[in-house]
Amino acid sequence: MNIEQIIVGSLETNCYILKKDKMALIIDPGDEPEKILRAVTELEIELILATHKHYDHITALRAVKKATNAQAAIHPLDWTEDFDLRLADGQILDFCGEQIAVIHTPGHTPGGCCFLWNDILFSGDTLFPNGPGATASGGNEKAIYKSIREKLLILPDATRVYPGHGPSTTIGRERSLY
Ligand SMILES: [Zn+2]
Ligand SMILES: [Zn+2]
Repeated sequence: MNIEQIIVGSLETNCYILKKDKMALIIDPGDEPEKILRAVTELEIELILATHKHYDHITALRAVKKATNAQAAIHPLDWTEDFDLRLADGQILDFCGEQIAVIHTPGHTPGGCCFLWNDILFSGDTLFPNGPGATASGGNEKAIYKSIREKLLILPDATRVYPGHGPSTTIGRERSLY
């Protein structure tokens, strides 16, 4: 499986596109739908995943859905009417034989989720290099620390973390901050 990172929108959101066997899975269609659609030309979209409901992660959702007829999934606690499917903690998604685990990590938003594929974690706005995501507007600081400690730091040190904004890190590099 191949992972492409596209940076979209004024908040420079990382949109990740997983590709395998002429199929694609999109994580966080944050903005600039034409840029996202260019990256999936000639591919069929299996599914669109949102780490959480903040606009900078889903602004392109409607346009991408309209152009591709793909379905979109999010955790019910972050539900908006643009979604089709509800994610659950511990759920395993199958993408062309690749297993992607859903990890519900409330704190930045109530329904925030991370997605784990082998040793790669798509952490949304939950875990960044040098600290957790913001909780000032509608988040819960206690909850985000609990989510990171109990659900993310149990992963091996070598796990690579691809956050919703900015550069990647590893679980090992972030562990000492918690
Ligand atoms: Zn956010
Ligand atoms: Zn964000």
